[in-house]
Amino acid sequence: MSDNEFRRPVSVDFAPRGSSCEWCGKPAEKQLTAIGGSYHNESGLFCSPCGEKFSNVVINAVNAANAARTTAFAS
Ligand SMILES: [Zn+2]
Repeated sequence: MSDNEFRRPVSVDFAPRGSSCEWCGKPAEKQLTAIGGSYHNESGLFCSPCGEKFSNVVINAVNAANAARTTAFAS
């Protein structure tokens, strides 16, 4: 599973007590901050499943940006 070895471009902190998920309104478990790509410095409070989705959105954005850059270099 070498796919899991790439560095996640998202930093994770504990959510403040009593905060709620930005996407679904459930109690938030973590505060995520994007640290790469077009989402750089975007942060939010998320429950566990929405946090996973946010991470994936950021990762996909970073991968897309990297792919675009690679293509630009190749041409
Ligand atoms: Zn949620």
